[in-house]
Amino acid sequence: MAKKIAIIGAGVSGLTAGIYALKAGFRAEIFERFTAPGGEMTGWDREDFHIDGCIHWLTGTADDPADAFNDMWKTVGMLGEGVEILKPETFGTFEHDGETFSFTRDVGETGSRMLEISEKDAPAIGAFVNEVKDFPYFSAPAVAVDCMSLSEKMKLLKTAGPALKAMKRLGKIPAAQFAERFTHPLLRFAFKTWGADNASVGDFIYSYAVFCRGKTGVPAGGSRAAAERIAEKFLSMGGLIQYGAPVAKLPVVGKTASLILADERWLNADYIVPACDIHATFGMLHEQYRDKRIEERDAAPAVYPLWASFLLSYAVDDKMENIPKELTFKTQLAMADAPVSYLSYTAYADQPAFAPEGKNIMQVQVPTNYEFWDKLYADKKEYAETKTRYGQEVLERVEERVPALKGKLRLIDAATPKTWERYTGAHKGSWMSWGAALGAKPMIHDGRVAGIDNLYMAGQWLMPPGGLPAAITGKWAVQRIMRKEKRDYRGL
Ligand SMILES: Cc1cc2nc3c(=O)[nH]c(=O)nc-3n(C[C@H](O)[C@H](O)[C@H](O)COP(=O)(O)OP(=O)(O)OC[C@H]3O[C@@H](n4cnc5c(N)ncnc54)[C@H](O)[C@@H]3O)c2cc1C
Repeated sequence: MAKKIAIIGAGVSGLTAGIYALKAGFRAEIFERFTAPGGEMTGWDREDFHIDGCIHWLTGTADDPADAFNDMWKTVGMLGEGVEILKPETFGTFEHDGETFSFTRDVGETGSRMLEISEKDAPAIGAFVNEVKDFPYFSAPAVAVDCMSLSEKMKLLKTAGPALKAMKRLGKIPAAQFAERFTHPLLRFAFKTWGADNASVGDFIYSYAVFCRGKTGVPAGGSRAAAERIAEKFLSMGGLIQYGAPVAKLPVVGKTASLILADERWLNADYIVPACDIHATFGMLHEQYRDKRIEERDAAPAVYPLWASFLLSYAVDDKMENIPKELTFKTQLAMADAPVSYLSYTAYADQPAFAPEGKNIMQVQVPTNYEFWDKLYADKKEYAETKTRYGQEVLERVEERVPALKGKLRLIDAATPKTWERYTGAHKGSWMSWGAALGAKPMIHDGRVAGIDNLYMAGQWLMPPGGLPAAITGKWAVQRIMRKEKRDYRGL
């Protein structure tokens, strides 16, 4: 009988590990604490509306056999026949003192529009356009780096080197500092507000360059449909999923781990792939198993901040055909013990199934802090009232900025970091893994826990900052297992 891999978590990384495990001839069974697949890649219904809780941006959607992400998405069924890929035209639209500007797919056109706005900024605009045009694209290696031979590593360094070098150079420039190169307030505002406060401009230029090269898109139907499609593929290949089956402990005897579910069932498997939150994994292990790489990151939140979001969803009594579908604008609000100086909204006109005929759904994602919501959650009434109050304040700011929406918005959902913590077990409700402020060091974790032979982790925490492409760690976990089995893993 084929050897068995038990996987913890049916998020995109666990499902990816499962599909590659079956492809490699193993038996695979996933234990998922929630009642549905997807983890953070999900969506939920409110009244007649669908709230997509994840994909605004999927890297690896362009057909390219040399792109490891694209190959993975096709293998697991994220992409494939019948899956339409939507290609948003803009990468953010910004408004300042009545003037508007968008980063479009054509960086040359974007540069020309920037010049129209501020000819005085020509040198900074030219330098920016060239950075985007010249930024070398690199996705991820198809084989886990620690499974590569020396010559493969050398080859990888040659291919990935230019992108890493560019990232290292741009990673030293804070986005806010880069914004100061422009004199025009609208351009400054656009660069300052695109990413997190402490982000480098490298994140922006990399992401925008990937967008301009057409490497990103959004699968029609959104996140929940994608999760169901991938889970279906796993099941159709012979995989098993147990929902409502949280794993509680990972006892280790000698160097071999087993599973204990929350209902106290013990299970043995030849291999275990925890694809849940990495903090949860270490919480299931005896305290003698520790990992410095994780502890160091957790101990330096200013350098490795978590991603905490307050996600507000509004039913829109308008299709928004003649209203901007996305906008970032200045505001002044106080929310969750912090000032909010701008708001960004996105509407889903290109996903007609998300709203009834003639209507739309709009989301506003506000960066927030976990601790505020965690404290408030002790009083459920106060927690619920605060969400609604903030939701109403944001609604008023959006209506003020876009008068055509006046009286047409209605708050139908408000999710906080507590929501993600409760539903996915994500550490402090983080919607990706660790971010990287200036001074952060890159990390690709090998997924191993010293002292345990049959445990191979996967998931977004192994490949900060996370995001859906981190699903490739599920494939890498299976390659590591194949290497242990002395099997050829390169063609997987
Ligand atoms: C609002 C939002 C917007 C996002 N937008 C994007 C985007 O546009 N593009 C992008 O690339 N990424 C985006 N992301 C990030 C992306 O969703 C995540 O990086 C990715 O889904 C993480 O996948 P994962 O499988 O590694 O982890 P998770 O999704 O966290 O999956 C872990 C799974 O393990 C389960 N689990 C946890 N503990 C246990 C246990 N003890 N026993 C059993 N099961 C357990 C959880 O229930 C979960 O299903 C977004 C996320 C959010 C929340």
